[in-house]
Parts: sequence; C-alpha cells; structure tokens
Amino acid sequence: MDIQPPAVQEALEARKPDAVLTPRDTLREVAPDVYLTHGVIGTVDEFNRGFNGNAGFVVTREGVVVIDSLGSPRLGRRWIDTIRSVTDKPIRYLILTHNHPDHSYGAVAFRRKTEAKIIAHPGTRHYLNSSQFEASVAYRKELLGSDFEGFKGVHADRVVEPAFGGPLELQLGGEVFHVYNVGGHHSFGDLLVHMPKRGITWAGDLYFQNRTTYMLDGDLDDYFKAHDLARELGTRLLIPGHGVAQEGPPFPMRRRTVSYVTRLRNMMREAVRNMSPLSRAVDKADEAFPEWEETALFEENHRKNANFVYTEMEKKILFGED
Ligand SMILES: [Zn+2]
Repeated sequence: MDIQPPAVQEALEARKPDAVLTPRDTLREVAPDVYLTHGVIGTVDEFNRGFNGNAGFVVTREGVVVIDSLGSPRLGRRWIDTIRSVTDKPIRYLILTHNHPDHSYGAVAFRRKTEAKIIAHPGTRHYLNSSQFEASVAYRKELLGSDFEGFKGVHADRVVEPAFGGPLELQLGGEVFHVYNVGGHHSFGDLLVHMPKRGITWAGDLYFQNRTTYMLDGDLDDYFKAHDLARELGTRLLIPGHGVAQEGPPFPMRRRTVSYVTRLRNMMREAVRNMSPLSRAVDKADEAFPEWEETALFEENHRKNANFVYTEMEKKILFGED
C-alpha cells in the first residue's frame, strides 16, 4: 500500500543526502486558491524534522487565511516563506485545528513575523499549562535542536466557544469560513473549518487515512458528536490533517476512521460487560483490525487506543453512563 501522499512520495524519491523536507516541496493547489502542504505520514526523523502533519491556506482578495502552523518554529518560518512564494497578500488569520505539536508548534513564527490573528480552541489554553506540554517541548528540543530555537507556546487572540455551538464566522475577500468547536475528540480541544460557499471542510484530525489515529488525548463521546456535526455540513472536498484531500461524498477516510472507532468502542464495551480483563481485551483488539495493520503508526498507537477505550468504557459502565 502507498502510505505517503503522492507529493511526499515524490519528495522522498528525489531526496538528496542531508536534505531536509520543506513545506514548499509538497505544496499542492487542491481547489482554486486553496493550497495544502502534505506532511510525511510517520514519526519524526532527520528528513522530515517534525513535518508530520498537513497545513493549508486560502488566498482571498483581501488576504490569506492559514489553517495550522506545522511542527516547529523552523517549520513555521518555512511555512510562511512558502505562503509568500504564492502570494504577497497579508496573512490575516491563523486557525489552529488543535494543540498537537505537528499542527501548532510553528505558531510562534506567525506571532513574530506576521500580523495574523490566531484562532484556537479554548482547550489550547489548558494544554499550554499542562505537564504534557512541558514534556512534549522538552522531548522535541532534544530531538530537533536548533529547529526549536525561539520556541514559545502561543496563546490565541480569539477562542471559539461553546463546544458544538454555532460557528465563529470569518469573512474575508469574498470567502466565508465557519469555525466550529468540536469538543475534545482528539486533543485538548479541536476545531473544524468549513467553507460553506465552496463545500470545503478542513477536518483536522477527525478522519485519518493510512495512519492509525491516536485517541488518548481525546474524548470518545465528543468523537461521535464531532462526526455527527461534520457529516451535516455540505462537503465536496474533505481536507484531513494527515494524508491527501478527498472529493466526495462518499469519503473513504471518513467511513474507515469512524468504523475503527466504533468497532473498538463496541469491542471494549462487550469486554467490560463480560468482565474480560484489560490485557485479554487488548490482545483481542490487536488481532481484530487486520485492515489497519499496514497503516502508519498501527504498532505505536493501536494497543494504546484499545487500552484507553477499555478504561473509558469501564468508567462509563461503572457510572451508569453507557
Ligand atoms: Zn495530527
């Protein structure tokens, strides 16, 4: 199976010794004036240096709206240069779909080098005060060295509230953006961006292709609520946080990810109800998803997801919530 987006695959094949991948290498126009740079599906290495998630931007008559900032101060600066290679219009907004490093740690470059208003989920504030944040920054500083020089957690200029309420509407140069707070389905807080006039949805990490999701920072109930909200939107182009954009409906990445989460929840609910011990339930889940075994991060994430969902279901059943 081809795991990497074609743009990334080409860059990997053209790779020269000691070269480092930049956002410009994998930038593609996915709809008129809508651009997406594709991160490497996998973990941090010397070539991608933390460029493991997508980010995009939309050029309007009056300026640019950016969705996600990539994974380090250095990548954030390269991302701004990449945008500048397409347009010299001002960058007006940076929307962070969620707090995970590969999506948000480049935001400091936008704060320093642009006038962009930064829009995020209120949960990002809690994240910046958490021990996870401290540990994640220390780990990346160690791993990526000078790429992390000048790193700072960036607080939003504007947060989107409440969860699952009406969207924050941005209008710029004839384009309309609806930014929804979709709870904490995958992180400390997730946003989804819909462009109603275009039928374009930026889903963040709600749906994955060729990469096993990581559920441990998220909330299971919010996952299904976020999916319900997303599928009500008129979407013709679905842009994920990892992998390539899909035209539809149907959207295979959506069907696949929702089926993964649903099956895992159902299996673990059964296991808890039957008083099957955690270790046995996780072993069983390990065997039950052969169609995901070939995807990136299956080894790293799947058993952890199973473990997490089991303990979540245990709590719910104990408190009579399921
Ligand atoms: Zn991600």
